[in-house]
Amino acid sequence: MPLPLPLSLSPSKVSSFTDCGLAFRFSAIDRLPEPPSVAATRGTLVHAALERLFCLDPHERSHARSLGCLDDAITDLRDHPEFSGLELDDAAEATFFEEARVLLEKYFRLEDPTAITPIGIELKLEVEVGGVRLRGIIDRLELDRDGELVVTDYKTGRAPGERQEQQRLAGVAFYSLLCERLFGRRPAKVQLLYLADPLAIISVPTDRSTRGVERKLAAIWTAVERACEREDFRPNPSRLCDWCGFKAYCPSFGGEIALADAFRVDRELSGAAPAQPVPA
Ligand code: SF4
Repeated sequence: MPLPLPLSLSPSKVSSFTDCGLAFRFSAIDRLPEPPSVAATRGTLVHAALERLFCLDPHERSHARSLGCLDDAITDLRDHPEFSGLELDDAAEATFFEEARVLLEKYFRLEDPTAITPIGIELKLEVEVGGVRLRGIIDRLELDRDGELVVTDYKTGRAPGERQEQQRLAGVAFYSLLCERLFGRRPAKVQLLYLADPLAIISVPTDRSTRGVERKLAAIWTAVERACEREDFRPNPSRLCDWCGFKAYCPSFGGEIALADAFRVDRELSGAAPAQPVPA
């Protein structure tokens, strides 16, 4: 029986499909719950602190105020399952918050937030292109001094190597396409701010890059449709498996795909995701 198609594509889904078809299936089609990870939750926390910072008036966006924003974000995060599920002891919790504070401090080495004119923060965008629904969340959309659009994406992991950089820039082109279709204007610049390094990777979208991402998205969607039709999403073991939360379902690690099928059917029958933990 064919698998149901995912509802949409996003930069992370595109990246997931390119890295490992089976991990994409588990995440986007079976929608299996993933255990929280320290790196992802720390990223959530830093994004939340920066979101608060940019809600302040420009002259208030100081490093001292950013620490207050972080404290507020920590208060909100503490009771969230994404944090409580990490089950950190006191020492690990202190390290977790200190690392978030350091990332925030490094952010100030990349740019002066008082000079930024944001017009959207954590902006959820959705548009249909060539019959495919595209979704993305833009961390920050702003206007530069010439009134042109600039898209900014914060990254809390390390900057990528050369090969991964091309993949990251494909995500950048995705955001540019969303803006162009929704606002009728192509951003003058899309920037990835890698806070840990700290390093900014800047891309200037062009006709060529826009056409390239449209072609790539169409090709990926065709491949996803074919894989759903044939129920054929294959594992692609790599060093990324070290961070994969689906090993219990992955045949490359002795797991069973049938468990994922059962989870998806159960969810479809109940109309909601059942509270089922990932098997250890
Ligand atoms: S463990 Fe590796 S091969 Fe298996 S689904 Fe995850 S990423 Fe793919």
